[in-house]
Amino acid sequence: MFSEIRVTIGNANSCRTKIKKLLLPLLLLVCSLNLMAESLLTTTIQTKSYSIGKTNNGCISGAKALPLQGGGYIVLHLERDRHYGHPLLIKTLQTLAKQAQQQQLGILQIGDLGQALGGALPFGHRSHQSGLDADVWFNLNPNSYVNANKQRSNIKQFSMLSSNGKGKGKGKGKGLNTRWTNKHRKLLELAAKIVTVDRIFVNPAIKRDLCKTVTEDRQWLRKIRPWYHHDKHFHIRLSCPKSSPDCIKQAPIPAGISCDASLTWWFKKHPATISGAIKKRTGIPKACQVLLSD
Ligand SMILES: [Zn+2]
Repeated sequence: MFSEIRVTIGNANSCRTKIKKLLLPLLLLVCSLNLMAESLLTTTIQTKSYSIGKTNNGCISGAKALPLQGGGYIVLHLERDRHYGHPLLIKTLQTLAKQAQQQQLGILQIGDLGQALGGALPFGHRSHQSGLDADVWFNLNPNSYVNANKQRSNIKQFSMLSSNGKGKGKGKGKGLNTRWTNKHRKLLELAAKIVTVDRIFVNPAIKRDLCKTVTEDRQWLRKIRPWYHHDKHFHIRLSCPKSSPDCIKQAPIPAGISCDASLTWWFKKHPATISGAIKKRTGIPKACQVLLSD
C-alpha cells in the first residue's frame, strides 16, 4: 500500500520524466502547480484509510471523523452520526470551509458524509458509502442555527428554485429564486477547483444558471453535474484516492463543460428517474462483507 505522500512523490517523478521527454516549459508549470495543490491536501494526512468498492456499493476502512465544528463550518444532524469519511474528504471540506470563510461567503453547514465504516445508509442516500461523498447545504447564514437544538437537527433549509421547490427534482422550466446569490456561485467554484474533488452534483437549474452567468474561466463548470433534487444542498464527490486500490472508479465525466444539449435534456420531458442509473447490485465487495460483519 502506498501512502498519499508517496503517491505525490510518484507523480513528481512521472512529471519529471514527461518534462525531460517533451522539454515543454508549460508542462513544467502545470505539473508544479498541480503538485503544489495536491501536496497541500496530502502532506498532513494519515494514510491508513482505504475506500473500498463504489460510492453506492462500498465501505471504508480507517475513516476519519470530521470534527463537529471548525474553521468556517458546522456539522448538522448529529443524531445521524454520519460525519465520517476518507481523510482526503475531511481535509477537502476543511479546506473549502476555510476558503469560503476567507472570502466572506458565510459558514458552511455540512450535511451527511458517511458512517464510520461506510456501507449502505438506512435512509437518505444510495451513495455516501465509501467515504468519498459529502453534502453541503446552500444555506450560508450563521443566524439560521442560532436556535439550533442539541443535535442541530431543527435547522430549516430552503430550496434555491423559484416556485418554492415545488416539483423539485424534475427541474422542468424552473429558475432560481432570490436566495441564490453570487456567493453560491463562488462557493461552487472554490469547491470545483479543489484538486481532490471529482464532481459536484447540483440541480439542473443551478447548472444552467452557472452556464449563463460564468463568463471567464469556465473550465471548472465541467465538474458541476446536473442531477435530481440538489436544490437545497450540493453534493461533493472525490475521486478514488490513489492509495485505495480497491476503490472502484466512477465513469469519468464527459469532456467539455456540458452547457449543451446534455443540460437542456433535463428541462424537457423525461422519466422521473433514469432507470439505467439504478443498476442492480452485484453484491457487496468481499472486503466490505468482512469489515461490516465485525
Ligand atoms: Zn449527497
